[in-house]
Amino acid sequence: MNHTIETNQASGALFAAQAYLPDGWRRNVLLEWDAAGTLRSVRPDLAQAPSGVAHAAGPILPGMPNLHSHAFQRAMAGLTEYRANPTDSFWSWRDLMYRFAARITPDDLGATARWLYVEMLKAGYTSVCEFHYVHHAQDGQRYASPAELAQRVVDAADVTGIGMTMLPVLYQYSGFGARAPRDDQRRFINTPEQLLGIVEALRAWRPEHGALRYGVAPHSLRAVSHESLRALLEGLDRSTPGAPVHIHIAEQTAEVEACIATEGARPVQWLLDRFDVNARWCLVHATHIDAQETAALAKRGAIAGLCLTTEANLGDGIFPARDYLDAGGAFGVGSDSHIGVDWRAELRLLEYGQRLARRERNVLAAAHQAQVADRLFDAALAGGASATGREVGALKAGARADWIVLDAQHPNLAEQKPHTWLSSVVFCEHGETPVLDVYTGGEKIVEGRRHRDEARLYADYRAALARLLAED
Ligand SMILES: [Zn+2]
Repeated sequence: MNHTIETNQASGALFAAQAYLPDGWRRNVLLEWDAAGTLRSVRPDLAQAPSGVAHAAGPILPGMPNLHSHAFQRAMAGLTEYRANPTDSFWSWRDLMYRFAARITPDDLGATARWLYVEMLKAGYTSVCEFHYVHHAQDGQRYASPAELAQRVVDAADVTGIGMTMLPVLYQYSGFGARAPRDDQRRFINTPEQLLGIVEALRAWRPEHGALRYGVAPHSLRAVSHESLRALLEGLDRSTPGAPVHIHIAEQTAEVEACIATEGARPVQWLLDRFDVNARWCLVHATHIDAQETAALAKRGAIAGLCLTTEANLGDGIFPARDYLDAGGAFGVGSDSHIGVDWRAELRLLEYGQRLARRERNVLAAAHQAQVADRLFDAALAGGASATGREVGALKAGARADWIVLDAQHPNLAEQKPHTWLSSVVFCEHGETPVLDVYTGGEKIVEGRRHRDEARLYADYRAALARLLAED
């Protein structure tokens, strides 16, 4: 039964015995939201539950934003875990990924993205930033609608109920010094004007709303030039000043070395010196930064986009998280290549990388927040929300009505007090997920660990996989 209060102010309401508000766990909380899916009021400490209002099945956490995704890569997860050549590396993985990208059709992409977003929602990701770079047909020709593939991804978000920040990617070159693109990059290539045209086509097709935002993503400093990056940002600001900008920045030491050799500076330093990098920016894989870049990036307020499971899978390196957090740096997490889709695993690995490297425990705790999981959860919510460019990431009036209901009967939470729940949620891995129900825009999308369209969307995904994995 799902009772709701129908009044002029609210179109939905839920009572939670425990909810994680911006100031921590609070008791007897009433959440009320409007028909557009925006929270209108969040009231803790009620003397008793109002009559006629549905009760949450467990404690409530804000939904986590996923700040970095390449949806099509979900379909190749697990297929590259072998030594493809004697010097297997990120770059040989990328060759395999390009061969996979070459096969994807619009229908395959739509089915893959829909299933991926089901998995994200079940994990408690309620928003996703899609770093979308496969734009053209298999022969490199533009589709009749140049935003065809981006539209399939936006549709997938709509169908599944996840909030979306669509970031069409500008990819022009194969390397620093404006090197001509490779043939296997032909589906990615646009000029800044063409890329802005894709953004405009998307806006005309489906205008922004509470669950949808558009921005851009210059792919990396190796794939754009100084001039084209400037043209892209100026064009974006003419139509939508302040829209989100995401970029892959320093994932591999080889790209840092190439940037120094051709541009005379490390990638993060180069970018900070030439552009007004601020909180609208998300620097994905800021893995290889020196002490000066760490301090400077933290000061600018840009979001470091950390994708720990992918970075570990690809052998990228370890982000200097302790120094960056000590300097006040902002970050969020993403599932990127989707070798795993679980924010709990991203936060756990963020801390574990530091523990292994330093041979210490609870490295990322803070003077103001002694519990590592709480600190990382709060920071990833705030940074992830900023990266989406949407009002998400907190249970407060004005924010999107997105949240996770935890299973308080889960063996990892049972008999505990609220102050250790997040520690157990993040660090314990035993059996099924503690994420029981998930709401987006006030709608219950996942109930009892099942997405409302799970069977149908899985069947579509299986059919797409059968096509994609068929032998030539
Ligand atoms: Zn990426």
